[in-house]
Amino acid sequence: MKGICILGATGSIGVSTLDVVARHPDQYRVVALTANGNIDALYEQCLAHRPEYAVVANENNLEAFKAKLVGSEIADIKVLAGAKALETVATLDTVDSVMAAIVGAAGLLPSLAAAKAGKTVLLANKEALVMSGQIFMQAVKEAGASLLPIDSEHNAIFQCMPAGYTTGQTAKQARRILLTASGGPFRKTPIADLDTVTPDQAVAHPKWDMGRKISVDSATMMNKGLELIEACLLFNMDPDDIQVVIHPQSIIHSMVDYVDGSVLAQMGNPDMRTPIAHAMAWPERFDSGVAPLDIFQVGHMDFEQPDLQRFPCLRLAYEAIKAGGIMPTVLNAANEIAVDAFLNEKVRFTDIAKIIERSMAKFSPVSADTLEKVLQADQDARVAAQNIISEILS
Ligand code: NAD
Ligand code: MG
Repeated sequence: MKGICILGATGSIGVSTLDVVARHPDQYRVVALTANGNIDALYEQCLAHRPEYAVVANENNLEAFKAKLVGSEIADIKVLAGAKALETVATLDTVDSVMAAIVGAAGLLPSLAAAKAGKTVLLANKEALVMSGQIFMQAVKEAGASLLPIDSEHNAIFQCMPAGYTTGQTAKQARRILLTASGGPFRKTPIADLDTVTPDQAVAHPKWDMGRKISVDSATMMNKGLELIEACLLFNMDPDDIQVVIHPQSIIHSMVDYVDGSVLAQMGNPDMRTPIAHAMAWPERFDSGVAPLDIFQVGHMDFEQPDLQRFPCLRLAYEAIKAGGIMPTVLNAANEIAVDAFLNEKVRFTDIAKIIERSMAKFSPVSADTLEKVLQADQDARVAAQNIISEILS
């Protein structure tokens, strides 16, 4: 029986994780659930899964959550609040696995704490890894933690790696990774029309149902940019050996090209419960609830080169990882600020890449080998991006 802590339980990944957990009560026990704002959902999840701890990350919501518990069946649940409490529950002795499913930089410290405590880290929160690459991978290695990718592409690549492979190593006979992308909702939209697309159009992803931030990232293809950096770190590969492939059907979730000419692909219906169940059961397998792939219904599959004119964010991610040092941290922070401004209808869709590019131009790739340097670069890049937004608005 394994104890699991789900950071970001009320999000898209969190909900899918609980769906998988509920299928395996003999193997997983929920120790802690965390949420930021959606306390109604957190309350319902606590009722259904009976964790020992519930964490309300945003302290402003604590009283409202406690009020819901009074007189309820779960009145005795341990309730914690604030950012530090996320680290507390991610490192409990009774926790074996931590699902890192908070969105954005807010997930870094608890995910890193889980790694340092030697937990099995099920990593969905790609921003945490992108912003702190070197120190995160170092922490995993030093603590002997297991780092298992939840991002569907990275989980697919992991599944295509040789027997006995663990993340952080370079698989010597693997010469290339083919990182697949759906191309998002604007793959065919005339480029001139991208100036006027709305947040609702941007979050309407053709293949995946996800949180709003990652949905916008998919529309700009910054999601693939972050995943490129994530893949370089997880699989210790050079960015030039990772080819992004647009595959609109989203049936192949990525491929590994070996020196003998074999190309291994992992396929399945686009449903995050597959990578979640894979990582939770690893090195075994168990049921995820995902319908079997109907290959006849799929019929055929297409592959295209990404267009970097249409998707400048992908170019910026290649530039950031090649420059190294703090540049991926800067890229990620500027992107979070720009996407937030777009979702709040302050800037245009096409401003997102401009804000990131202009933010990156203000930094040089100094080293990112301590947490202090990473957090400082993250903070400075947020300020730089905000200033650029103010200039755009004035
Ligand atoms: P979401 O927006 O649906 O959920 C985010 C979760 O994080 C919520 O539980 C929210 O309460 C919590 N949260 C938000 N801000 C917080 C803060 N400041 N402090 C503490 N908690 C906070 O997002 P999602 O789509 O589930 O994505 C989660 C992560 O997984 C992201 O990093 C995303 O890139 C990654 N991911 C998601 C998918 C997917 O299909 N949704 C696929 C691959 C990777
Ligand atoms: Mg992905």
